[in-house]
Amino acid sequence: MDNVAREDVTDIFGSNVFSDAVLRERLPKNVYKAIKRTIDEGEELDASLADVVANAMKDWAIQKGATHFCHWFQPMTGMTAEKHDSFISPTPDGRTIMEFSGRELIKGEPDASSFPSGGLRATFEARGYTAWDCTSPVFVRQTGDSVTLVIPSAFCSYTGEPLDKKTPLLRSMEALNKHTLRVLRAFGNTTSKRVAATLGAEQEYFLIDRKFYEKRLDLMLSGRTLFGAPSPKGQEMEDHYFGSIHERIANFMLDLNTELWRLGVSAKTQHNEVAPAQYEIAPVFATVNIATDHNQITMETLQRVARKHGMVCLMHEKPFAGVNGSGKHNNWSMVTDDGVNLLDPGTTPHENLQFLTIIAAVIRAVDVYARQLRSTVATAGNDHRLGANEAPPAIISIFLGELLSDLFEQLKLGDATSSKQASSLKLGVNTLPPLPKDCSDRNRTSPFAFTGNKFEFRMPGSSQSIAGINCMLNIIVTDILAEIADKLEKAKDVNEAAKKIITEIAKKHTRIIFNGNNYAEAWVKEAEERGLPNLTATVDALPAMVEKECIALFERHKVLTEHELYSRCEIYLETYSKQINIEAATMLSMGRRQILPAASGYAGKLAKTVAALEVAGSPSPSQKKLLQQVTKLLDGLQKQLDELESAMTKAAKVNDHFKHARAYHESVIPVMKEVRESADALESVIDASLWPLPTYAEMLFIR
Ligand code: ADP
Ligand code: MG
Repeated sequence: MDNVAREDVTDIFGSNVFSDAVLRERLPKNVYKAIKRTIDEGEELDASLADVVANAMKDWAIQKGATHFCHWFQPMTGMTAEKHDSFISPTPDGRTIMEFSGRELIKGEPDASSFPSGGLRATFEARGYTAWDCTSPVFVRQTGDSVTLVIPSAFCSYTGEPLDKKTPLLRSMEALNKHTLRVLRAFGNTTSKRVAATLGAEQEYFLIDRKFYEKRLDLMLSGRTLFGAPSPKGQEMEDHYFGSIHERIANFMLDLNTELWRLGVSAKTQHNEVAPAQYEIAPVFATVNIATDHNQITMETLQRVARKHGMVCLMHEKPFAGVNGSGKHNNWSMVTDDGVNLLDPGTTPHENLQFLTIIAAVIRAVDVYARQLRSTVATAGNDHRLGANEAPPAIISIFLGELLSDLFEQLKLGDATSSKQASSLKLGVNTLPPLPKDCSDRNRTSPFAFTGNKFEFRMPGSSQSIAGINCMLNIIVTDILAEIADKLEKAKDVNEAAKKIITEIAKKHTRIIFNGNNYAEAWVKEAEERGLPNLTATVDALPAMVEKECIALFERHKVLTEHELYSRCEIYLETYSKQINIEAATMLSMGRRQILPAASGYAGKLAKTVAALEVAGSPSPSQKKLLQQVTKLLDGLQKQLDELESAMTKAAKVNDHFKHARAYHESVIPVMKEVRESADALESVIDASLWPLPTYAEMLFIR
C-alpha cells in the first residue's frame, strides 16, 4: 500500500507542492523576491518574470513525472474544473521538446459556454479566461499513472466578469486587509503590513461500501437516499461518536492523509462523527483562499481514496433520513503578517481595546447582515439540516461564551474593568494532572460561536464550496471595520472613541447574542420576539443576496456588481430547482421500476397464500389483513407517483427563477415526502428477499 507506514511524514509533507522552499531553490534571487512581493504583499505581478517561473515549474513537474499542466478553477458549480494541455511542442525536424511558457502559466482559455453564468454571457460568447492565482501554490497531482501540474486559477468572462468563486473571495480579502489595517493603524500599529482572514474547515462525510451505492440510483444520481425505512438501530446509543476507528476506515484514513500531506494539505484531526458511518477530517488552518483550495482538494481526495478502498464517500448534507447530516464547520479568524491573531483575547481582554473593537465589529456585522450570511448556505441539501430539527437551526445568533458575554455586559454600562479568569480543573485523583480550564464551555448548538480565538460558523453544508461563505464573512466584517476606521481616524482620543463605539455596539446588538440551547423550541419563539430572521428554506433565504443593502455592500468594496449578484442568485436558484427535479425524477423512476414491482410481486405471493389457505380449509385472517395493507399502500404509492409527475410537469413550466424554485419547494417537495412515506411503509412489511434496495441497516452498519 502506498502510505506513510514506512515513510517519514516530514519528507512526504508538501512533496508534490511547488512550495516556497522549491521556489527559492529553483528561481534566480531577483525573480524569487519579486514573486514573493506579489504573494505576500499583494504587489502587482510582473508578467515579464513569468517565463522564468514557468520554466522552473515545468522542470520540477517533469521530474515528478508530469506530462500535462492544467489551470484548475472554481466555476459556479461549487466544484472545480480543469482543462489539461501537454507540455509537448513539436520541432521542425519532427521531434518534440517539452515547453511551458509564461503566457501559458498566466492565462488559460477554456471554453466558458457550458459553465453556469446566470445570464452574464450568452452561449455564443464562448470565450472565458483563467488567470494564475499565484497566492495559492501550484502542485502536481497523480491520478492513476498520469501526473499533471495543477495551477490554481481564477476564471472570468471575455469581458472580465468573474465566472468563479475565487475572484470575489480574493477581492474580499483585499478589502478586509485594507480596512482592518486602517483600524490597526488607528490603534498605533505601524509594523503589520497585511491582515488576512484565516480558515480551518472541518469536513464531515459518510463512507459506505461501494456495492450498496451501486444498487441505489438515488445515491448515484442525487447523492442522498430518497427512500429507506429507518434502521432498527440508529445513532441513539451514541456509540459511534469518537468511537475507536474501524480497521477498514483507519486504513482509508491513513491513505487519505498521505495523499493530502503530499499535496501540502495539513490534515490534522480525524474521528468518528455522531451518525453511524459518519466521519470528520480537519486541517490546520490556513489563509482563507488556500484553505478554500485545500478544502476542494480534500473533497476530491476523499472521493478518490474511498473508491480505491471499495467504498464511496457521501458528501451530501443529508444522505440518510433520521440520523445526523453533514456540515462543514467554518473556523474563521484574522491574522496579521507578523503573526498576531486579532481574535485572540490574551489574558486581560478588558484592557485590550483593539481586540474588543474587532469582536464588536464581528457582532455588529453578523447582526446587520444576518440574512446575507444565511443566504450563503442556502442549498437544496442544506435545507435538510437548517430548520429541520437538526444542528444548527436556520436562525443566526452568536455564542460568545461566559468570558466575552460578561465583558460585553460590563461594556453596555460604559466600561469593562475585569475579565473572568480561566481556572484549572482538579479531578480528585492525585495521579491525574490538574487541567487548565478554557474560559468558556463549548456550545455545540450555536450557528456562530466564539471558540477562544476564532469564530466557528457551523451552518455551511458539507458539499458546499466555502469560497462564497467566506467572501461574505470577510466583506460584512470589513464593512463594519471600515465604518469604525472612519470614526477612529477622525478621533482626537482613539481609546475614548473606541470605547464609545464598543459600548454602542454592545447596547444595540444584544439581540444577536444567545448562549442557550439553539435546538430548543423556545428559542424559535424568543428569536422571533427579538426580531431575528428565521429563514428555513433556500427559496426564502436566497433573495437576501440581491437586497438593496447587499448590493450596496458588494459594490462599496468592489467585490461584485449588482448585475453579477443577480446572476449568481439566479444560478443558485436554478441549481436548487435542478437538484429537486433530479431527485423527483429519480424518485419516479425508482418508485415505478423498483418499488411498485417489488410490492406487487409480494402482494401476488400473499394473494396466492391467502387463496391456497382458504382452499385448504384453513383461512388466515392475518395474512388477508397483510395483503390488504400491502395493496392499500401499493395503490396509494401509485397515485402519489402520478401526482409527483404532474407536480414536476407544472413546476417545469414556471418561468421566473424565483417562482420556478418556489414551485419545486411548495408543490414538488411535499409530494416527494408522501411518496417516501408510502414506500418506506412498504419496505417495513415486505419480504426482505423481495426488496430491491440495500437497507439503511446494511448501508450504515456494514463496513
Ligand atoms: P474545536 O475542536 O474547538 O472545534 P480545533 O482547535 O480543533 O477546535 O480547531 C478546529 C479548526 O479550527 C481546525 O481546523 C483549526 O486549525 C482551526 N483553527 C484554529 N485556530 C484558528 C484560527 N486562528 N483561524 C482559523 N482557524 C483556526
Ligand atoms: Mg469545531
